[in-house]
Amino acid sequence: MKNIYDNSLKDLEMYFDTINEKKFKALQVYDWLYKKRVKSFDEMTNIKKDVIEKLKDNFKFERLEIIKRLDDVDVHKYLFKLYDGNKVEAVLMMHDYGTSLCISTEVGCNMSCAFCESGRLKKVRNLEPNEMVLPILQIEDDLKIRISHVVLMGIGEPFDNYNNVMKFLDIVNEPKGLELGSRHITISTCGVVDKILEFMNNGKQVNLAVSLHAPNDELRNKLMPINRVYNLKKLMSAIREYIKVTNRRVTFEYIMLRGINDNVEQALELSNLVKGINCYINLIPYNETSHIEFKKSSKERIMAFYDCLKKNGVNVTIRREFGSKVMAACGQLRSNYEEGK
Ligand code: SAH
Repeated sequence: MKNIYDNSLKDLEMYFDTINEKKFKALQVYDWLYKKRVKSFDEMTNIKKDVIEKLKDNFKFERLEIIKRLDDVDVHKYLFKLYDGNKVEAVLMMHDYGTSLCISTEVGCNMSCAFCESGRLKKVRNLEPNEMVLPILQIEDDLKIRISHVVLMGIGEPFDNYNNVMKFLDIVNEPKGLELGSRHITISTCGVVDKILEFMNNGKQVNLAVSLHAPNDELRNKLMPINRVYNLKKLMSAIREYIKVTNRRVTFEYIMLRGINDNVEQALELSNLVKGINCYINLIPYNETSHIEFKKSSKERIMAFYDCLKKNGVNVTIRREFGSKVMAACGQLRSNYEEGK
C-alpha cells in the first residue's frame, strides 16, 4: 500500500476524482499533512468520516522512526529506520544563508566509487518518495525550524532512482504543501548521462551538481566505475547540452584526495576540461573514513589547486567542512551503527 506522503497534489486530486469526491479535498488533505502537520487521518477534522475511511483503506499513514540523532556545531545528523527495517541518513547543515538538508535517495548504492562509504553496501532498494519527503518534515518538526535548501547528496545515486526522485520533487515543490522552491534544491549525480539528458527536458528549475573528482578518464575510471560506461567525453558533451537547453549553471564537485587527484598539473587539466562551460567547481576536502584507505589533501595542496583554477579563469569555491565529528560523510553513521558503535 502506498504511503499518503507518496502523493503529489495532482495524484490526490486524481484519487478523489476516481472515488467521485470533489477535487478540493486533495487540497484539504495537503493542508493537514504539510501545514498543520497532523500524524493521523483521524485528525483531519474537516473531512467526512466515510472519506477518512476510504483514505485509510487506500493509504498508510506512517512517519519514519528517528533512531539516532547526533549534534555538533551547526550540524545535526539523523538516522531513520524505514518500515522494512532498513536505515537511511540525513544531515542538516546550518549556513548563513539558511539551512540545508542532505538526504539519501537509495538504501545502499551500486555506483561503487572507490572513496565512498555508501557503496560498501550494495543497493538494497530505491527509496520511495515518502522516504525522501519525511526526513524534511520530521527534522523540521524535531528542531522546530524551517528547512530552506535540500541537496540530494546522501546515500545513493538519484538518477538510478529517477522516477521516485521526480515524484519527490513534485511533492516538495508544491506551493500548497512544503513549498520548497526548485532553485533551492540540488541533485547530485556521479554522471548517469542518459538521465542527465532526460532531466534536461523535464523543465524543472532544480540545480544539477556532477561529481567529477578526476580530470581525465584514466584516473576517473579507477575512482568511479560509472566512467567506464559514460566517459568524460560523453559526460561533458551531455553537460554542454544541458546548459544550452536549460540555461542553468552546473556545479562540479571535486573531492580532494591526497596524492591522487590534487596536484597542480591535474588542476590545469581540470581547467582545460571545463573551459567554456558555464559552471563552478566545488573543491571538497575528503572526509576520511576508517574503512577506506584514501586520505584528505593538505590545506596547502587544496589552496594551490584552488589558486591554479582561479588563475585559469575557473569559478571555484572550497566547501566548508562540516560534521567530521558526527560522521557526516556519506554512509558513515549507518555503517557504524550496524557495527554497534
Ligand atoms: N551519487 C551521487 C550523490 C551522492 S554522493 C553523486 O555521486 O554525486 C554525494 C557527494 O559526496 C559526491 O560528490 C560524492 O563523490 C561525495 N563523497 C562520497 N564520499 C565522500 C567522502 N568520504 N568525503 C567527501 N565527499 C564524499
